[in-house]
Amino acid sequence: MVYIRGQRQDYDDWRELGNEGWGYRDVLPYFKKAENQHRGADEFHGIGGPIDVHDQFERNELCDAFFAAAREVGFRLTKTLMGAIVKARLITSSLPTDGAVPVLRLDTFRPARRRVNLTILVNAQATRLLLQDRQVVGVEFIKDGQRFRVNARREVILSAGAFNSPHLLQLSGIGPAERLRASGISVLHDLSVWAKASKTILCQLSSTNARSRSH
Ligand SMILES: Cc1cc2nc3c(=O)[nH]c(=O)nc-3n(C[C@H](O)[C@H](O)[C@H](O)COP(=O)(O)OP(=O)(O)OC[C@H]3O[C@@H](n4cnc5c(N)ncnc54)[C@H](O)[C@@H]3O)c2cc1C
Repeated sequence: MVYIRGQRQDYDDWRELGNEGWGYRDVLPYFKKAENQHRGADEFHGIGGPIDVHDQFERNELCDAFFAAAREVGFRLTKTLMGAIVKARLITSSLPTDGAVPVLRLDTFRPARRRVNLTILVNAQATRLLLQDRQVVGVEFIKDGQRFRVNARREVILSAGAFNSPHLLQLSGIGPAERLRASGISVLHDLSVWAKASKTILCQLSSTNARSRSH
C-alpha cells in the first residue's frame, strides 16, 4: 500500500475558501503525529506515530526504467511525495510494513474509544446533513431501522468517501441546483459540489520474475 497524503495546494485551497484550520500548515502536524517514518523525522515527516512508513524494500528493474524514462522527459525525482513541491513529482515508493498486507496499528487507536467526548456508532447510515441558514448544524442517520438526529455544537466533518460525500451533500440539498431539481431535491445551497474533482493518473507497473512480483 502506498502511503500518500493530499496535495498541499488542495488543503490551502480549502483554507482560502474560508475553512480555517484546514490549510496545509494546519494539517501537517497531524500527518506527522500519525506517522512513524523509518527514514527519520524531517520537516514533512514524523516518527513515533501509529502508521509505519518506509521505502519499498525490493528494487525492481521495471520501476528503475520507469523513473529513468520520467527523468529523461524532464520530471524531477523528489525524495518525498508529501513535500512542498507537487509539480514535477515522482513516486519514490514509500510503503508501510514488511511485505505483509499493510495494517494500520488499530490497537494504537483503541484507547481513544474510551474518551468521554467520543461516541462510535457502527451500522449507522447518514442520510442527510441538517442545515440552518446554509450552515450544517447536525446529521440525520438511520440505525436499526430507526431515524435519529444529532446536533453539532461546533462542526460536522463529512468523510463518507469520494463518491458518498458529494452524494450525501446532494441528498441534503447542497449541490448543482439543476441536478438537484431534476432529482426532486429542494435546493438549499446551489454549489458545484464535485465539479472540481481532479483526475488522477495512476500508472501501475507489473512484472513477475522468479524472485519477486511487483506492482
Ligand atoms: C483499490 C484502491 C486502492 C487504493 N490504494 C491506496 C494506497 O495504496 N494508498 C493510499 O493512500 N490510498 C489508496 N487508495 C485511496 C484510499 O483508499 C482513499 O483515499 C481513502 O480511503 C479515503 O479515505 P476517506 O476516509 O476519505 O474515505 P473512505 O475510506 O472511502 O471511507 C468512507 C467511509 O464512509 C462510510 N460511508 C459512506 N457513506 C456513508 C453513509 N451515508 N453513512 C455512514 N457511513 C458512510 C463508508 O462505508 C466508509 O467506511 C486506494 C483506493 C482504492 C479504491
